[in-house]
Amino acid sequence: MKYRTKLPLDIIILALLIILTAITLLLFDVSEMIYAFTRKHEDLELDELILTLAFTSFYMLLFIVRRFFTIKQLLKHANTDSLIGITNRRKGTEYILNEIEYIKSSTYNSSLIMYDLDHFKEINDTYGHDVGDSVLQEVTQLVIDDIRNKDSLIRWGGEEFILICPDCDLKDAANLAERFRAKIEKHMYINNIKLTASFGVSQLKYKENFKELLIRVDKNLYKSKESGRNKVTHLFAQSLF
Ligand code: GH3
Ligand code: MG
Ligand code: MG
Repeated sequence: MKYRTKLPLDIIILALLIILTAITLLLFDVSEMIYAFTRKHEDLELDELILTLAFTSFYMLLFIVRRFFTIKQLLKHANTDSLIGITNRRKGTEYILNEIEYIKSSTYNSSLIMYDLDHFKEINDTYGHDVGDSVLQEVTQLVIDDIRNKDSLIRWGGEEFILICPDCDLKDAANLAERFRAKIEKHMYINNIKLTASFGVSQLKYKENFKELLIRVDKNLYKSKESGRNKVTHLFAQSLF
């Protein structure tokens, strides 16, 4: 999912006002009339005033544009996991809630894939935390390389992730999870480390509560762990409506 921000209305209005002022002053010779009128009556130097006003407006525009990009950058940091560079849990929760809302008013299906790396603690214990960090980045890149633009990958916990798959039913999501499972298993990580992951998959139900959805997908993940790890489970989805 792309990070989206709209250009603030303030900037658009200010830009339009500056353009309007410029057109008025340059094209319609109104400035001449204002000068003549004011000089006759008040003896006021309006040219300096207008110039100052123009510079101030222009500077204000630059100021707002700069602030806009700073805020955009700050928001991006606030929503991103600093180690792996993907959506963090806080923003991810928002995305899931949005998806739950969206399917209420649409006819398409969406699914969640939750996965957790198997025996990850052993990697940290054997090779150290830095190597563990690199493996987390590597495994995330494997998944990112294979998702669509509209999918969102979230770091849900330490080595636990959620992939939101909009417009994807349970069968498609389970196939996708199986593809990731095989890919993660096949890959050789830093220090020739081998790794597997366990998956739970659930399709969103119509008007489903966020907590219920999370419990459902987590139960499926737990089933994969319980039954020996390196598996994909997509049960508990019999009644979708
Ligand atoms: P299981 O198959 O049951 O999931 O076993 P596990 O070892 O993966 O699970 P456990 O919850 O016991 O351990 C998870 C480990 O993940 C422990 C924690 O130190 C590690 N971990 C969590 N976040 C990070 C991180 O950002 N970097 C590194 N290197 N390790 C992390
Ligand atoms: Mg684990
Ligand atoms: Mg875990």
